[in-house]
Amino acid sequence: MDYDIHSHDLVIVGGGLTGLRAALEGVRGGLDVAVVSKVHPLRSHSVAAQGGINAALGNAAGGEDDNWEKHAFDTVKGSDYLADQDAVEIMCREAPTTVVELEHMGTVFSRTEDGRIAQRPFGGAGFPRTCYAADRTGRNLLHTLYEQLTATGVTFYDEYFVTSLVVDGGRCTGCTALNIADGVLHGFVAGATLLATGGFGRLFARSTNALINTGDGAALAFRAGVPLEDMEFVQFHPTTLFGSNILITEGARGEGGLLFNNREERFMKDYAAKAMELAPRDIVARAIQTEAEAGRGFENEYVHLDLTHLGAGRINERLPGIRQIAIDFAGVDPVEAPIPVQPGQHYSMGGVPSGVDGLTPMPGLYAAGECSCVSVHGSNRLGGNSLLETVVFGKLAGAAIVGAMKGLEHPPPDPLLARIESERNRIQDLRSRRDDVSEFWGLP
Ligand SMILES: Cc1cc2nc3c(=O)[nH]c(=O)nc-3n(C[C@H](O)[C@H](O)[C@H](O)COP(=O)(O)OP(=O)(O)OC[C@H]3O[C@@H](n4cnc5c(N)ncnc54)[C@H](O)[C@@H]3O)c2cc1C
Repeated sequence: MDYDIHSHDLVIVGGGLTGLRAALEGVRGGLDVAVVSKVHPLRSHSVAAQGGINAALGNAAGGEDDNWEKHAFDTVKGSDYLADQDAVEIMCREAPTTVVELEHMGTVFSRTEDGRIAQRPFGGAGFPRTCYAADRTGRNLLHTLYEQLTATGVTFYDEYFVTSLVVDGGRCTGCTALNIADGVLHGFVAGATLLATGGFGRLFARSTNALINTGDGAALAFRAGVPLEDMEFVQFHPTTLFGSNILITEGARGEGGLLFNNREERFMKDYAAKAMELAPRDIVARAIQTEAEAGRGFENEYVHLDLTHLGAGRINERLPGIRQIAIDFAGVDPVEAPIPVQPGQHYSMGGVPSGVDGLTPMPGLYAAGECSCVSVHGSNRLGGNSLLETVVFGKLAGAAIVGAMKGLEHPPPDPLLARIESERNRIQDLRSRRDDVSEFWGLP
């Protein structure tokens, strides 16, 4: 036998923040939960999130009047009024309790002088409402959730690559996955399957995304017959490191970083005179690209992000990872010189259509996090709202699945066995191809 079969109430494809938060909810609700991930969960892309997570806590000086309605207003405005406003309301209402809950689970957030969760300004936000753990927020959150899950009975299938969804009579009944270590195909029978596979940034030449962000969830759903939503809404981050396109967090501008062109002008005055460097991402990204194309950039490619006036103390306390990235990958110490930055693909607003409960148009199939399109970001996501989306909608999807699973029998395995056979043939076909890469892509 060269395949294995597993059966679980809930199979979650993806071990990032969305997948882990949903798993916690599922296991708390008494489900037998599996997390299948093509990398170890702690290597999921969520670990790279830097700047922070939004919640109207009102902790920062100047942020006392903040509330969830203002957060929702900023989110809808930032989305170019294309977001689903009911979903935005849920996300922003849930934000404060969600962040505090994560803190109680053990997330080590940065602190105000009087010991509350610190908050920094972010683009498009009317108040400083982005809660952060220095510039390693995603890492702190992901480790917290993973630690929580190690105390539960969740089964992890690490380094298993999901290759297809199984559909029986219009219902998703599981998936197939290749164990990367030994090449054995595995079949998963599932009462519910949740896609939490992250974004598709690596379709683009310049991207801040991890190499693993290849849009697998969208492809799996599409091949299974689920239409995709808003795929044209792709976010470009204004400040990625020139050359490698590693993200330089918006937190750098939130802390006071300034953008200059080759005439030493703060050119944002010509694009967003009020918000300047903290205008929404699409505006700042277009401004930088316009400056570069008009010959006002450096080498016609990038502009300068200057942090030098912040001083070594503040940079080391608030942006230690950014300082190290600039030194290691651009040979520039931001304490002494400006960082060369250019826009790069950063976030996928579109994806698998899903409701606030994660349900997609296909019964049995759920999606949440960056691979989904609940449409809380419309055509433009505000910084700090994506980490929020992962934990709010991961939790809500987990809870909805707990409810939906009550009294539901596990589906029969026969369609899965047929799918394993067809997947084996597909993989064999790929392996046996003689074409080299250029022939495959039709290049000369
Ligand atoms: C550099 C960077 C910094 C960011 N900083 C912030 C920030 O400060 N604040 C903010 O709000 N947002 C930020 N974002 C966005 C945010 O980090 C992501 O949108 C979010 O972490 C996505 O989480 P996720 O759980 O949906 O997916 P991911 O964390 O990407 O996890 C995807 C999971 O799916 C698994 N997977 C994928 N395909 C398969 C397959 N075929 N088979 C099996 N497993 C599969 C992967 O192994 C992984 O475990 C940042 C993004 C980038 C690129």
